[in-house]
Amino acid sequence: GSDVEVDLGAEIDEEITEDDLLGGLKVDSTSEIEVPDRLVDQVIGQDDARDIVKKAAKQRRHVMMIGSPGTGKSMLAKAMSQLLPKEDLQDILVYHNPDDGNEPKVRTVPAGKGDQIIEAYKDEARKRNQMRSFLMLIIMAVVLVYAVVTRSLLLGILAAGVVYLAFRYSGRSTDSMIPNLIVNNAEQQTAPFEDATGAHAGALLGDVRHDPFQSGGMETPSHDRVEPGAIHKANKGVLFVDEINTLDIRSQQKLMTAIQEGEFGITGQSERSSGAMVQTEPVPCDFVMVAAGNLDAMENMHPALRSRIKGYGYEVYMDDTIEDTPEMRRKYARFIAQEVENDGRLPHFTRDAAEEVILEAKRRSGRKGHLTLELRNLGGLVRVAGDIARGEDRDETTRDDVIQAKRRSRGIEQQLADNYIERRKDYEMTVSEGDVIGRVNGLAVMGEDSGIVLPVMAEVAPSQGPGKVIATGKLQEMAEEAVQNVSAIIKKFSDEDISEKDIHIQFVQAGQQGVDGDSASITVATAVISALEDMPVAQDLAMTGSLSVRGDVLPVGGVTHKIEAAAKAGLDRVIIPKANEQDVMIEDEYKDQIEIIPVSHISEVLDVALAGEPDKDSLVDRLKSITGSALERDIGP
Ligand code: ADP
Repeated sequence: GSDVEVDLGAEIDEEITEDDLLGGLKVDSTSEIEVPDRLVDQVIGQDDARDIVKKAAKQRRHVMMIGSPGTGKSMLAKAMSQLLPKEDLQDILVYHNPDDGNEPKVRTVPAGKGDQIIEAYKDEARKRNQMRSFLMLIIMAVVLVYAVVTRSLLLGILAAGVVYLAFRYSGRSTDSMIPNLIVNNAEQQTAPFEDATGAHAGALLGDVRHDPFQSGGMETPSHDRVEPGAIHKANKGVLFVDEINTLDIRSQQKLMTAIQEGEFGITGQSERSSGAMVQTEPVPCDFVMVAAGNLDAMENMHPALRSRIKGYGYEVYMDDTIEDTPEMRRKYARFIAQEVENDGRLPHFTRDAAEEVILEAKRRSGRKGHLTLELRNLGGLVRVAGDIARGEDRDETTRDDVIQAKRRSRGIEQQLADNYIERRKDYEMTVSEGDVIGRVNGLAVMGEDSGIVLPVMAEVAPSQGPGKVIATGKLQEMAEEAVQNVSAIIKKFSDEDISEKDIHIQFVQAGQQGVDGDSASITVATAVISALEDMPVAQDLAMTGSLSVRGDVLPVGGVTHKIEAAAKAGLDRVIIPKANEQDVMIEDEYKDQIEIIPVSHISEVLDVALAGEPDKDSLVDRLKSITGSALERDIGP
């Protein structure tokens, strides 16, 4: 629409095509895209959360945000602080209490006044000190003259010393009357934003420092040792606490008191320190709280605190992905511009480079027709790419930089997987040619975004008792499930009675890495059938797919990463579920290296995977006829 044009400060094509990754934006570089000033306008996606933050800012309500890391929770909390009125800001001063030194007094003044008060006190003290120094000099001079006249040097030195000490300590006591400005908002452009994630009790609730010289006139007066907590610094602003459940229960309780009362006195947090004897008057802490975490965090937080937020505020869920529309693509282009400008040192991105980032956003969503909203990570990619360009003193970040950055900014899992693939290549663990009975190259995802080739071997032997499925290590359960699914199919076409056999399944070097069982079920099925029927499997091929009891190949996750892994391992062909066809977003460099074969039925898998006609053909035919008729029965009237 036309308002988007205004928003981005750049023109948009009349007709936008599906493959225009910038959604019709007519720019050659991200430098032509306007970045909004307010943080709340920089937030991409998360419309629900953004609306709630706006509403909550107006009504001064608390907010609970649930969602994945890096989706904009703290960004929104900060944005909220920019929406709160700045006029309400206050400075907080702690004064010495002449009646009880351990109960300092607290005063609140409009922002900026605090500095003036301190200045006035200091001025006063300075004047008094000048007066005193002058007096001291005169008295010392008199003493010295007296000493010279009476020729009693010892007496003179002694008298001078006494005078000096007397003045020094009386001086300290006037200095110590200067109040302690614990919250100073003089320079604050917006309402404060305090991030108390992972804060210990003192940092959250305030503290009173220990004084090693508790008596003897050397002590630091107690009001001077008072330190504010995040709850006090957030007064009239936003207190953000991520991973709220990791806050210890006592702190959560006190936090709740602070929310209820709107003020919270400061005391020393370590019990045996002299600070623990000090307790100030109540200190204002009238903040709006934004608590965040994942679903788990919400369940584990203090129930009373949770219900407090629920009762007096909003709860909102953060999205992980968003629908891929031309308008969204334009916003993602703006996201790149934002990250570049917010960083301040990165060169802007060329059109090609921006397109590559958006392509990556598509890939990382792992979902057809969506873009990832895990923008912290995507921002990381932008920074690494920009850093590469900057390192070479270029004034633009190019597509090559982004591609290089993708390699560099691989997560730990990816690095592990790469390393693992390298090692396996060394030992030739991945067989990529010839035909082998009972061995199939499966594919798995490690971590979030790293594919690996995971060969599966099956062997079938007559059983003494009832047949068992025997798998290595942790994969027992998954193997059993996969075999159970295929056994229904095998039973129908095979003369062999699988229930009287032991089936051994080995996942070559799977280790403990997270391997997802479901997506290996066509692999296990193929290996078992190959072993059972003594028919070899082509090894230039890898496969992924889930299997229904009727032989349908069902979609799985992570196909893009899996295909790339197969290509990297030097395989020529890869079988994927037909339903996953649209999810394939492999990088150009792999496109010529590997043939992708989408299938929807196990008979097609075997047709491609098994070698050795004509036995194979008859097997496949049998399979087709059996499962085909089963299908018809279900679909028919
Ligand atoms: P969270 O608090 O959810 O872990 P952050 O708000 O700290 O995530 O996000 C980190 C950075 O990632 C932000 O500073 C911003 O640069 C980018 N980012 C994350 N989510 C968004 C979003 N929805 N829109 C724009 N930028 C985002």
